[in-house]
Amino acid sequence: MIHLKTREEIDRIKESAGILNRAHGEVAKRVEPGVKTEVLDKIAEEYIRDNGGMPSFKGYQGFPASLCISVNENVVHGFPSKYELKDGDIISIDCGVFYNGFHSDCAYTYPIGKVSDEVLSLLIATRASLYEGISFARQGNRIGDIGYTIQQYAEERGYTVVRELVGHGVGKNLHESPEVPNYGKRGRGPKLKAGMVLAIEPMINLGQRNIVQESDGWTIRTKDRLPSAHFEHTVAITETGDAEILTSHQFIEEVFKF
Ligand code: MG
Ligand code: MG
Repeated sequence: MIHLKTREEIDRIKESAGILNRAHGEVAKRVEPGVKTEVLDKIAEEYIRDNGGMPSFKGYQGFPASLCISVNENVVHGFPSKYELKDGDIISIDCGVFYNGFHSDCAYTYPIGKVSDEVLSLLIATRASLYEGISFARQGNRIGDIGYTIQQYAEERGYTVVRELVGHGVGKNLHESPEVPNYGKRGRGPKLKAGMVLAIEPMINLGQRNIVQESDGWTIRTKDRLPSAHFEHTVAITETGDAEILTSHQFIEEVFKF
């Protein structure tokens, strides 16, 4: 069952995203070499709670934190920890907010200090692949058009796409139907309709696409231990034209440029 949201419901998701976007911005101010990733988690949780929201991830199926923090070869679902970021790392920060009955979901991958050109190119391409995918999130297209576009964009540049983890519908629940794979075939999958709200979230690897789960039961990493990047927006399908991007990386990119 794909729940189509009313305008009012989309506006409520947008309010939730308003808190989320600024929480990301607060975290971005502290993303630098030497910072412990658990410090970033505290910043996000405090900001979200101070503004009347709840961190969507904390307690979700037992997840222990407000942020998923995934460094280098970790793809998604890593835990904040006492690990100190160091020059040359990359860090994916994924956050969700629940506010006034609705979730929003957004992720960004940062380079720490000076990273190799190869890794920087991976981040730039993954971020661009997200917007390429979003450009096909239009009424009348199908879910497969989004995934096809992301996959083409990544693979043309020599990268690989994680298959086992996918984007998803967002609403009263953090994860709703439909699944939104970052690979696929044109013209396949559920038809996109106005009122669908989707988290689109390419996870793109420098090496092979294969992943494994760490023994903590959560952290997903690349099997070959090469870096992986992850960017995510929550978007609404509109009656006409482009999707409305409900989350924003604006507050991140105002303080952290690459
Ligand atoms: Mg997310
Ligand atoms: Mg998500």
